Amino acid sequence: MTTQIATSPAVTTTTDYDVVVVGAGFAGLYLLHQLRALGLSAHAYDAADNVGGTWYWNRYPGARCDITSVDYAYSFDADLEADWQWSEKYATQPEILAYLSHVADRFDLRSDITFSTRVDSAKWDEDAGIWNITVAGGDTVTARFYVMATGCLSLPKSPDVPGIENFAGPIYTTGTWPHEGVDFTGKRVAVIGTGSSGIQSIPLIAEQAKSVTVFQRTPNFSFPAHNGPFPTERAAAMIDDRDAYHQAAKKSGAGVPLKVTELNALDATEEERNARFEDVWAAGDLIGIMTVYADTLNNPDANKLFADFVRNKIRSIVADPVTAEILCPTTYPIASKRVCLDTNYYQTFNLDHVHLIDLHNTPITTVTASGIDTADASSEFDAIVLATGFDAMTGALVAVDIEGRDGLTLKQKWADGVQTYLGLATGGFPNLFTVTGPGSPSVQSNMAVSIEQHVEWICDTITHMDANELLTIEPTPGAEEGWSNHVNDFANITLLPIAKSWFNGSNVAGKNHQYLPYVGGVGGYRTICDEIVAADYLGFVFNDDQCNDGVIRRMQPDVNIMLEFLATLGLPPFETLEVDAARELSAALSDQSPAGPEVGEVLDGTLPGAVGDLGYRLYRPDTAGPHPIVAYFHGGGWVFGSATSDDSFCRDLCDRAGVIIVSVDYRHGPEDRFPAAADDGFAATQWLAQNAESLGGIAGQLAVAGWSAGGNVAAVVCQLAKDAGGPTLAGQCLLTPVVDGGFDWPSYEETAEGYVLTRSLMEWFLNHYVDDADRTSPKMAPLRATDLSGLPPAMVVTCEFDPLRDQGNAYAKALADAGVPTAHVQAHGQIHISVPAVGQIVSSIWVREEMGQALRGFFA
Ligand SMILES: Cc1cc2nc3c(=O)[nH]c(=O)nc-3n(C[C@H](O)[C@H](O)[C@H](O)COP(=O)(O)OP(=O)(O)OC[C@H]3O[C@@H](n4cnc5c(N)ncnc54)[C@H](O)[C@@H]3O)c2cc1C
Repeated sequence: MTTQIATSPAVTTTTDYDVVVVGAGFAGLYLLHQLRALGLSAHAYDAADNVGGTWYWNRYPGARCDITSVDYAYSFDADLEADWQWSEKYATQPEILAYLSHVADRFDLRSDITFSTRVDSAKWDEDAGIWNITVAGGDTVTARFYVMATGCLSLPKSPDVPGIENFAGPIYTTGTWPHEGVDFTGKRVAVIGTGSSGIQSIPLIAEQAKSVTVFQRTPNFSFPAHNGPFPTERAAAMIDDRDAYHQAAKKSGAGVPLKVTELNALDATEEERNARFEDVWAAGDLIGIMTVYADTLNNPDANKLFADFVRNKIRSIVADPVTAEILCPTTYPIASKRVCLDTNYYQTFNLDHVHLIDLHNTPITTVTASGIDTADASSEFDAIVLATGFDAMTGALVAVDIEGRDGLTLKQKWADGVQTYLGLATGGFPNLFTVTGPGSPSVQSNMAVSIEQHVEWICDTITHMDANELLTIEPTPGAEEGWSNHVNDFANITLLPIAKSWFNGSNVAGKNHQYLPYVGGVGGYRTICDEIVAADYLGFVFNDDQCNDGVIRRMQPDVNIMLEFLATLGLPPFETLEVDAARELSAALSDQSPAGPEVGEVLDGTLPGAVGDLGYRLYRPDTAGPHPIVAYFHGGGWVFGSATSDDSFCRDLCDRAGVIIVSVDYRHGPEDRFPAAADDGFAATQWLAQNAESLGGIAGQLAVAGWSAGGNVAAVVCQLAKDAGGPTLAGQCLLTPVVDGGFDWPSYEETAEGYVLTRSLMEWFLNHYVDDADRTSPKMAPLRATDLSGLPPAMVVTCEFDPLRDQGNAYAKALADAGVPTAHVQAHGQIHISVPAVGQIVSSIWVREEMGQALRGFFA
């Protein structure tokens, strides 16, 4: 080992290297190359005896990439790209390994790699501000920076197969396949596992073996790869303008420059849908499969249509119907486990010497010296193949004993859940970087593109630190927590976390159940990383004290998409319009909302208001009545809206709560100013109490609900009913209510603009409804009532990005302080209009569910 003195002007301590890298796969090789180009001393270690990482270890028959080879390659060097020709659409393992070997030779990287050497531990020396890295055999080297380029799928999972140690014959693991290959000719082979490695290898093992018995725990969705030449139009696009091609990949969702559809499966006719599904089946492209329709990954009904299509394909290929059914995945949404590409996988089960065992029905009781016993049979085998997968994403990271500040190890820090900032760094471990770590797009992307971006970001950061004489970097707890929330928020608006899979750690006993990759796309992720740098490394602390702390993304991803979409419409601010024009615009937007769920019955009627008849719309649940009744007051700032303007939200509440919702068309300003809305609300509530039974309701089971200005009406009605001695109300459900007429609330400053309901729009609403003199009246500002005790139980929902947030929070607190049973939901990342946006915003479904539960609870 060459001992060097690090060269940076920032360095005060002598280290062996500026940077020690663990791993010599795609990531480690590029890191070495880039670090050298910066003039830094860097050294890599790999347990393997050569370069290649994944492609060094995974030599099982049929091992190939499933991202098109042209895309699954480095893009940093045009000459390298021009000099290397891939022989097929999906290169084999030997070809990818040859490519990585070529890269190592071309850039003379091997001289800075120590092979056949595992890194056992790494310890941060707080006093010296350096890492001590100990390798197998006990040698220790020091470095300013320590980078884990250890791969997401590099630690094979220990096989949880009972009695596997009894087997006297050879056991082969796909992730550590013998270099000399395996000849299965004439052998009876058991293959355990049907993930990607099993699906790729089983057809080729079956070509040689005397018999193959496949032990399947959970079936996977697999599509024919249709391997062959690279599609000519994509090759041409790359030759035509390689920079544009790679830029498009970098800005894309998955790291491959393919156009992604905005069409929804649920909007297509059956014929259109099937044609598109057939195209995807025929194309054999993983990204095309994942993005077949815009709604397949987030709408269960759309997802089922696609899954049904694939299940029918399986049934059409596999001759034996019982075997076909066992191969059909039914317990999770398609794509929530890694979708596979195969060559003749399902066809292989039509061969007489290939058998399938469903481990759900007949689990392995034990492996014996000569075979495998299941619940109902004993079978003899000459060899066992374990295709049981990896301890993914975190396995190789915590396998090294990494000790950061104050003796805390990475394993300890992540014992109850993984926390990283961007998947690049983690607090308490200064100057440690992880390439494609958990919380980055990693395995949900073309990893070649993700690796290049991470390597470049790390190198730029070290350059920045050296240029500014900064010695240490690590994320702050707040930034890290914010990022973890954002990773979860994105995953939770998709169906991806549903399956038990290695994406969320459920394939490893005892591992935390947490969705690990970031699914916001490589383009969005790159933007975030760049924004963080532009904001003086937002959320990172340098030298323990220099920090621009903050959270990069708080907004729920789908709410953000909604805001971006609204911005594209270029609508005029409501408050700049005449009242009629503003009402027309509001009504036009309501009309375009999705329909909302079916309910048992919808009927329109009139009821007496304070000074004349009011229209109402009644929503009855699809269950046997009678039902409790909820008087609902729509949003619209006492100026817009009607009994039907919150239609989809009312349907949703009716459906979730199992109650009759009566949406009341109370009078509006400026024609009917304060207290018209409140008086109408109270009159309507009295009438509903008196006429409950004739509406199919239950006498005495009445509550109120409302959104925004309607929340104001509902809250005021409760106070009026209390003052009047009736009617008795079972509860009040207030969504982002106006409860005060003043503007002296921080949220009016913090979220004054940019979140649809603006401060100036609220001023416009209030001006049209209520005189200044009345703004402190409890009939306008229920928060100002002197006594809130004795009010009905409340559910108050407030949203993080809403000017009305703080007054809603204050009302929830005031109610609770007055002894009113109060549930308060503070909806993180939501805006004023996103909770009632049924069919548009997935991330607020849980809030609507809480509201539904609250309404049920009022009548329990
Ligand atoms: C069969 C298979 C097929 C795949 N196909 C694709 C594909 O088509 N497209 C795609 O984007 N991704 C694919 N992947 C994911 C693949 O892992 C990445 O694309 C990429 O190869 C990862 O490169 P890496 O350098 O980050 O990690 P790796 O290639 O995993 O390299 C990590 C290296 O670190 C070494 N290492 C780990 N811990 C230590 C230690 N403590 N001490 C010393 N050395 C250590 C390992 O020996 C290994 O060589 C596939 C993975 C598998 C298993």
